Amino acid sequence: MTAVLSLRGATKRFGGLVAVNDLDFDVAEHEVLGLIGPNGSGKSTTLNLISGALRPTSGTIALRGSTISGLPAQDIARRGVARTFQLVRLLPSMTVLENVMAGAVFGHRRRWGHDAEAQAMRMLEKVGLSRRAQAPVGQLTYIDTKRVELARTLAGEPRVLLLDEWLAGLNPTELEEGIALIRALRDEGRTIILVEHVMDAIRSLCDRCVVMSSGAKIAEGDTATVLSDPDVIEAYLGTEDA
Ligand code: ADP
Ligand code: MG
Repeated sequence: MTAVLSLRGATKRFGGLVAVNDLDFDVAEHEVLGLIGPNGSGKSTTLNLISGALRPTSGTIALRGSTISGLPAQDIARRGVARTFQLVRLLPSMTVLENVMAGAVFGHRRRWGHDAEAQAMRMLEKVGLSRRAQAPVGQLTYIDTKRVELARTLAGEPRVLLLDEWLAGLNPTELEEGIALIRALRDEGRTIILVEHVMDAIRSLCDRCVVMSSGAKIAEGDTATVLSDPDVIEAYLGTEDA
């Protein structure tokens, strides 16, 4: 079976710093892959390489067997990679609905006009925000901005979803809702890379995990095994802010 996404030797240098070092992993269809590791270990940079926000210094990234590394980010989005950002990025002068419509217009399966609007409304229902469709995004609570961003990534019917600490900064009630929301996406059979620190979420949502430390993969395997690996525990304990 061809992987949905595969990284081979993916490397990103910033001057003398190797932020991502010779990274190999595959993501299977319908899989939720946890990409975990302490702060600064290269997780967001890896998502930037996959989504085309950054070009790898070396190595290749393929989507269903065809190379996407080196393509402009818009082309990679068109081919089916959609993401959220660690710091939420919305179009501030637009409404909730307009922001989500942008995902339908520029995503994998393009829709226009009324089709894009209907799709955006369906996605807002999915994330529990349809009643706020006409609100300016500036009026939203933090978790609602996260919901909008998630709805926008879903609106283009991506083949793979990259979620960069989507659950970070939520209070306990919101966290429970957030985990339920991602679980629902998982149950729909979506293919997801979940960059996450929240252990309960990793345990309950991820089929497998890849663990990074200082840019390199230090462990990979099914979630329970990886989380009980002494090297993984040490990598986490070795940093103050993980
Ligand atoms: P994580 O998401 O795991 O916390 P990042 O991928 O954000 O880690 O960062 C990995 C390393 O690369 C860090 O040392 C960070 O400071 C560095 N880094 C990330 N982006 C840039 C950039 N645009 N320019 C220079 N260094 C960067
Ligand atoms: Mg990060």
